[in-house]
Amino acid sequence: MILLRTILLIALWAILAALAQWLLGNPMGWALMCAGLTVTLLARSARQQRVARWARNPETAPPAAAGPWDDILAPLYRYLRGQARQLTESRDAMQGMLAAAQALPDGAVTLNQDLQIDWCNRVARQHLGLRLPADRGSNLLNLVRAPEFIEYSRQEDWPEPILVRMAVGSQERLLMMQLTAYARDQRLLITRDVTQIEKLETTRRDFVANVSHELRTPLTVLTGFLETLREMPDEALTRDQRGQYLTMMHEQAQRMQAIVADLLTLSTLESSPNAEPHRVRMAALLQTARQQTEALSAGRHALTWQLDEGVDLLGAESELSSAISNLLTNAVRYTPEGGTITVRWERLPEGGARYSVQDTGIGIAARHIPRLTERFYRVDRGRSRAVGGTGLGLAITKHIAMRHDAELSIASEVGKGSTFSLLFPPDRVVESDAG
Ligand code: ADP
Repeated sequence: MILLRTILLIALWAILAALAQWLLGNPMGWALMCAGLTVTLLARSARQQRVARWARNPETAPPAAAGPWDDILAPLYRYLRGQARQLTESRDAMQGMLAAAQALPDGAVTLNQDLQIDWCNRVARQHLGLRLPADRGSNLLNLVRAPEFIEYSRQEDWPEPILVRMAVGSQERLLMMQLTAYARDQRLLITRDVTQIEKLETTRRDFVANVSHELRTPLTVLTGFLETLREMPDEALTRDQRGQYLTMMHEQAQRMQAIVADLLTLSTLESSPNAEPHRVRMAALLQTARQQTEALSAGRHALTWQLDEGVDLLGAESELSSAISNLLTNAVRYTPEGGTITVRWERLPEGGARYSVQDTGIGIAARHIPRLTERFYRVDRGRSRAVGGTGLGLAITKHIAMRHDAELSIASEVGKGSTFSLLFPPDRVVESDAG
């Protein structure tokens, strides 16, 4: 095309020159031919210059009306645009993948076959204390020095993850780490923080051990008495002794029953969703609790009741009744004869409500207070058992409080007494409708 156009242009000038030669004489003909070719050459050079200028920055559109260059520039520009589009798409895809790798809840580190760090995500930085770009190219084993990981990294392949305890700064974590080979001679290290899972597992194991221990003691006593009764000839025991044995056996059985009942309550609280809140008529509920407490105290304590009858709660009646009774029972249990127990149910100025049980009992040392709501935690195991405690009452109460958006607060001083309070937020509190 380009060649044909050039031939046609030269032919055009030749015809015009021949015409001038015929009309104006020979010299004019040659002069016109020369002038024509010069103009054509200059015009082409000007276009070539524009094209050369464009070639320095080919992302812009090519110069318009570039004459014969149009045939070269148009496909070239199309190709360049296609390439640029592909590059943008690849860059977007790459950025998307990097963002996804950054957002992973696990740590990810890419390494070469000598375990030199290439890249890592944010979580891996936290888990392993890596810094990029400073640590790029460093050997991972210089930074993760746990011997078990060094040994693991030397394996041929890594079908299983390993657990490594890592301390970064002041934080110690238990990490599950797994190496994987990918692409050609690349390695990927995945790290997962399993500190919480391990804690839960330990709590679960401790709980099972505690339950077994708590039940084993009364069971051993019970079995001992049963064996004695079975092996002793009837006449070897007096009627009174037999009665005494049976009473003790009954006590142990009751203790087991109390533990099992509390365990069932806890497990129900943990496994059931929060009950739909209903109006709980606190005046009636507290009245029942009052009668039970008076019966339990049997006149050994001075009981004072300061109850605002105009305040009700939104919640689950059976749960609230259990929490309220637990605190009262503890006050009676841990307050020696002659002590005072003051029970308050009151609306608070900011709209919430507080139930509190204050006693002048044995009190609790400050170091025990944060642990009182742990299952089976008791300040004095023997004393708790002697008064029929299971060690689960406050764990249950705390759970119930949480299910009612309430807060269980404990203030105590050894030898002076304790105050246990349940603080309910304003949206759980309603005016009583009892006329
Ligand atoms: P328990 O069944 O042993 O009473 P709780 O979970 O109700 O179990 O209480 C845990 C421990 O907290 C008790 O063993 C006791 O040491 C202590 N405690 C609870 N309430 C009081 C209180 N009012 N005064 C003194 N100590 C208390």
